[in-house]
Amino acid sequence: MRTKNYRARGKNTPPAETVRVIPLGGLDEIGKNMTVLEYKDEMLIIDCGMTFPSDEMYGIDIVIPDMSYVVENANKLKGVIITHGHEDHIGGIPYLLKRLSVPVYGTALTLGLIQNKLTEHDLRADLKEIMPGDRLQIGSFRIEVLNMTHSIAGACAFAIDTPAGVIFHTGDFKVDYTPLKGDPIDFQRFAEIGQRGVLLLMADSTNVERKGYTKSEKIVAATLDNIFSTTKGRIIVATFASNVNRVQYLIDLAVQHKRKVAVSGRSMINIVAIASELGYLDVPEGTLIDISRINSLRDDEVLLITTGSQGEPMSALTRMASNDHKNVKIKPGDTVVLSSSPIPGNEKTITNVVNNLLEKGANVIYSDIADIHVSGHPCQEELKLIHSLLKPKYFVPVHGEFKHLHTHAELAESLGMDKDHIFVLHNGSVLKLREDKAETEKTDIPAGSVMVDGLGVGDVGKIVLRDRKLLSESGLIIVVTAVQHETGQLITGPEIISRGFVYVRESEDLMSAARDVVANALDTCRERGLTDWSSMKNSVRDELRQFIYEQTKRSPIILPIFLEV
Ligand SMILES: [Zn+2]
Ligand SMILES: [Zn+2]
Repeated sequence: MRTKNYRARGKNTPPAETVRVIPLGGLDEIGKNMTVLEYKDEMLIIDCGMTFPSDEMYGIDIVIPDMSYVVENANKLKGVIITHGHEDHIGGIPYLLKRLSVPVYGTALTLGLIQNKLTEHDLRADLKEIMPGDRLQIGSFRIEVLNMTHSIAGACAFAIDTPAGVIFHTGDFKVDYTPLKGDPIDFQRFAEIGQRGVLLLMADSTNVERKGYTKSEKIVAATLDNIFSTTKGRIIVATFASNVNRVQYLIDLAVQHKRKVAVSGRSMINIVAIASELGYLDVPEGTLIDISRINSLRDDEVLLITTGSQGEPMSALTRMASNDHKNVKIKPGDTVVLSSSPIPGNEKTITNVVNNLLEKGANVIYSDIADIHVSGHPCQEELKLIHSLLKPKYFVPVHGEFKHLHTHAELAESLGMDKDHIFVLHNGSVLKLREDKAETEKTDIPAGSVMVDGLGVGDVGKIVLRDRKLLSESGLIIVVTAVQHETGQLITGPEIISRGFVYVRESEDLMSAARDVVANALDTCRERGLTDWSSMKNSVRDELRQFIYEQTKRSPIILPIFLEV
């Protein structure tokens, strides 16, 4: 059994210590990653991400983990270590730092992106820069920082030496032996850490359903080379702003082919600025031009790098495709490259953008027809490599929906791990980890989704969402009447106002009949002596709801308002 390779931590070790591992986000979902490690009166957090709202979450801006457990134990919290600068790993940080103060550790680019968020939220924080190879001591946790290859620069894994043993968190990664920039993973060091003994592995499960290997970024580079050598017209490339190395490659190609580079889209402009300042991007003097200048250049002198590779409705590329962009009008001869593949759920919007671009005569290159994007996450063979090098005693798959976690558990088992050493957890589970034993606690810790709407954090719950859903489906009817309180006598009205229900001017008859229904309901109430507000409101609501449903088969929200005279 390979799990026997785990070595006890020396002969004179005192009685086994317990560390609690508590995922607060990132399980049963791809998004809002956050894990707490707890030892006695000390806590360490790995990542603090956000996720985008589902279609059902009307009006919600973002979703963050429930941090109440951390806030309640704020005095224990020693630090937050961040694997990399993607939103699902850093997006929750401002909301954590609004409630407590704690040092945040990350590589330079990660911290640059975090600082940008903190500035937007008008927050200050103690940001501590780390680099691969660093060893830091945070409370009782001794952390080794390891370089990882991923779709953003500055990504790392953490080997955390805890009083129970080593917990290894991969962060997000792929195994890229030939990254465009920076170093590949140091497998020799991984093997050494595995040799010394890893108690628990937590590893990225995003692509675990895919066989084989994720291709190298070099493949994308080759496709881009080809496009630049054969294209005479303007080149417009949409890609993920955070893929700084790919953006660098595009800039290098532009220089080589004597094109100037314009940048479009807020996040692209932001990240190019941050990455250049921190030295992750090398942009030769005079290469970057303002987007307003591109129309004064020849077509073969233009490269435009833009956001919108997911067809996001307000993004720069979507606006170009629908002729809505201030500086860029798509024309025949343009080559538009979508250097991305659709995140599940975005297929339809991307297809719309591609159709619109094609209609305007552009040549469109996207992932279905060329090797123009590779994933940043590991497929099965890469995961097997990492498991085999680290040889963990226990394993918790992370960063995936349940099906991904489940498949990753099977993969670990196929490599010879004991089934009862593998824990498919959910958010809020507590894994009690000891050198010789791991088990989940019976009671979970609160770990739901907290919805953020504007400045409100967590004030939109199920009931508000249900109302928003109803409003969006059938609209709203407001009934206004002036009533004499003692007698229930109708003084004026009823007036009926509606929004999102029917166009009133074309439905005079319906509205007039609805007014009669309300007046009758009030008469009936008065006859029965039910002249208290709530009886009258309920009666109006019920009668009108029934009438509207019979007439239209719709159920708008009905809001009676009584003015007392
Ligand atoms: Zn991620
Ligand atoms: Zn990532």
